[in-house]
Amino acid sequence: MRIAFIGLGNMGGGMAANLAKAGHEVRAFDLSEAALAKAEERGATRAADAAAAVEGADAVVTMLPAGKHVAEVYRSSVFGKAPTSALLLDCSTIDVATAKAVEAEARAAGYEMVDAPVSGGIAAAEGGTLTFMVGGTDAGFERARPILEQMGKAVIHAGDSGAGQAAKIVNNMLLAVTMAGTCEAFVLASKLGLDPQVFFDISSKASGQSWSMTSYCPVPGVGPETPADRGYEGGFAAQLMLKDLRLAAEAAGSVNAYTPMGGEAQELYERFVQRGGGAKDFSALIKMIDDSWTAPGDRN
Ligand code: NAD
Repeated sequence: MRIAFIGLGNMGGGMAANLAKAGHEVRAFDLSEAALAKAEERGATRAADAAAAVEGADAVVTMLPAGKHVAEVYRSSVFGKAPTSALLLDCSTIDVATAKAVEAEARAAGYEMVDAPVSGGIAAAEGGTLTFMVGGTDAGFERARPILEQMGKAVIHAGDSGAGQAAKIVNNMLLAVTMAGTCEAFVLASKLGLDPQVFFDISSKASGQSWSMTSYCPVPGVGPETPADRGYEGGFAAQLMLKDLRLAAEAAGSVNAYTPMGGEAQELYERFVQRGGGAKDFSALIKMIDDSWTAPGDRN
């Protein structure tokens, strides 16, 4: 299959390499020369621009920073440039409204398009073990599945256009909320004199249990190995979690959904990123909660 791949950054670089490894002819484009050169080394062919990459393609995959980049690339370089027989797959995490708008424009121009954001970070993109949440028609999903399976371990049809983005940001909002709650609980437990390991042993088997506690514990030396054990390096950067929380808030506003816990988590991550924590794993929030703690009930 001839696959155009646009956006070869931290995530797209590994994903494009996996498609090339699977035997596809990958035509790559990125605004960054360094990203393009690396993609070439890893089996892709470089295109002069995005429009050249999509020429004659059977599928177009995009992995771009945000909604404005996705809208711009599809409008200027994909619609009318790729053959209408090409399947369009946007794997970026973007706002639901832009995802739906771009997909509607794709449909009007005669294309099948799906939104297919991913769960899993850079290591999963490299290892081909991402989880894809797909929004689009049944036919679009069935066409997308074999391509996505070559970059991931799970491909799930979330619903119609935009449903992949909705699933992604709602899941991440819940993750931020449980992580913030877990951080807060460990800080309180320790200030009340509980050993963090003992609190983990109890809570991980009791009703306070969540993935944030048992699989991604924010306390070093407690639970399985996590970014907390590596000085909160690697993992899922707090600034990317903040991006997803902003998208969730925007989506909630658009449907009048009341999301007070998501709002509180967003406020905490805004403050954490402002204080310079953006590149740290999102579980490092515990350090800010610990530092700002003055007395029980007096968190600010
Ligand atoms: P990145 O910034 O490393 O990569 C984005 C790439 O897009 C860059 O190389 C940039 O040069 C390129 N680009 C921007 N505008 C372009 C244009 N007009 N034409 C061609 N190329 C262009 O970002 P990333 O970490 O790879 O993330 C990509 C997407 O995946 C984001 O939406 C992010 O939210 C999502 N995501 C990231 C992670 C993660 O752990 N990094 C995990 C899940 C989802």
